[in-house]
Amino acid sequence: MVFVVEHETLNLFGVLCFNIYYFYIMNRLTEITPKYLDEIPKELEEGVLYISEKYWVAIHLCACGCKDKSVTPLKTIGDSIGWTLTKINDKVTLNPSIGNWSSEKNIGYHAHYFIIENKINWC
Ligand SMILES: [Zn+2]
Repeated sequence: MVFVVEHETLNLFGVLCFNIYYFYIMNRLTEITPKYLDEIPKELEEGVLYISEKYWVAIHLCACGCKDKSVTPLKTIGDSIGWTLTKINDKVTLNPSIGNWSSEKNIGYHAHYFIIENKINWC
């Protein structure tokens, strides 16, 4: 009886791990839409890249679907650090790539992608 319980627990754990992995792969976004605002709202929507040219920052929810905030300070003239935002019509490109770290959800470094002309290119 004890063996059966342990066996079931192990199976359940395996299924859970697979589902978490599956969730992160299946919920990955492939596209993001830029939205220009002065102030970044508290509640963010998935699939939106909030850009504040006033504060030189872009914020979005991690494209893996984990809902973690990814903050990318934008490079201004003379800055050596930060991301370069390139706008062509309604399409944006962020350079360099984005790597997301989440200690809060205990998933560590887990998402790495480029945003090129509103498309998310996973690494
Ligand atoms: Zn994520």
